[in-house]
Amino acid sequence: MKRRPLIVLAGAAVLAVTVPIASSSAARPTVVADPVAHGQIHAKDARFAKAARPSRTPNMTYHGGVIMPTATSTAIFWGPSWSNSTFVGDKITGLDSWYTGQSGSNYARTSDEYTGSNGQVGATLSHTGHIIDASTASGGGSTSVILNEVARALAANNQKPDPSGNGYYPVYTDVKRGSAQYCAWHSSGTVSGVRVEFAFFFNLDGDAGCDPQDSSGLHSQGLAALANVTAHELSEARSDPASPGAWYDGSGAENGDKCAWTFGAPLVTFSNGSRWKLQGEWSNAAYTGGTGYPNSSGQKGCLSGL
Ligand SMILES: [Zn+2]
Repeated sequence: MKRRPLIVLAGAAVLAVTVPIASSSAARPTVVADPVAHGQIHAKDARFAKAARPSRTPNMTYHGGVIMPTATSTAIFWGPSWSNSTFVGDKITGLDSWYTGQSGSNYARTSDEYTGSNGQVGATLSHTGHIIDASTASGGGSTSVILNEVARALAANNQKPDPSGNGYYPVYTDVKRGSAQYCAWHSSGTVSGVRVEFAFFFNLDGDAGCDPQDSSGLHSQGLAALANVTAHELSEARSDPASPGAWYDGSGAENGDKCAWTFGAPLVTFSNGSRWKLQGEWSNAAYTGGTGYPNSSGQKGCLSGL
């Protein structure tokens, strides 16, 4: 869903603000974030009201922007709990496996029909691994704060953002959701002039409002919950990464939003053999062809990725 973050930054003026990061490096990257958090996945009890005037077709339309033909992902785990092995459990190894296995999977192909000014969404990505930053994390109220963390984590590890503009940096925090109405979101911005896509995730341990209820026993509850919203945000980042936007529908819903909290299969198998309970992703082609499974509005445009 494309909407203002719950804590709204100061409107258009923010677009021009540059936020230097705290770094001892002589060449500080300049960080500019899109002030709008796109693709928030809403907690199950906080869905948006349906549009008052339904459009003729539920399919998404193209809005002129870029897509992500591929992605280079680096996960960032932010917060002191990520140095606590009990808290970490299977989450870091599990998410590294998730990104590695998503590449080349049928699930990745659920987003590959979408084209943009720079090509077509592909079914592969390159996962470089993860960075742990055990400093105190923030919640998801500010896109600038999260992009700043991306820049800081990369600099601290002598890494630069992928110069192709297809760098994807999901930031997994140890912060609980509390009363926030979303589980995660994605956005975009620039670090030293290079476009980056990034995402924010709350700690979903024990959070019933963001839980896909994976009963497979393959993963901890917290990992299974992060995996499901990870699928949502990555699919949206690839089909609608950055201003002015690529693919979303008449009410601003992106391909993850349109199938949120619906599951076309008990488990989806990735290219590395890992298995996950994941929501499906909207396909215009599947809806038009009548081959998808129904979303929460009964519209048969969701692909399970089997
Ligand atoms: Zn979304």
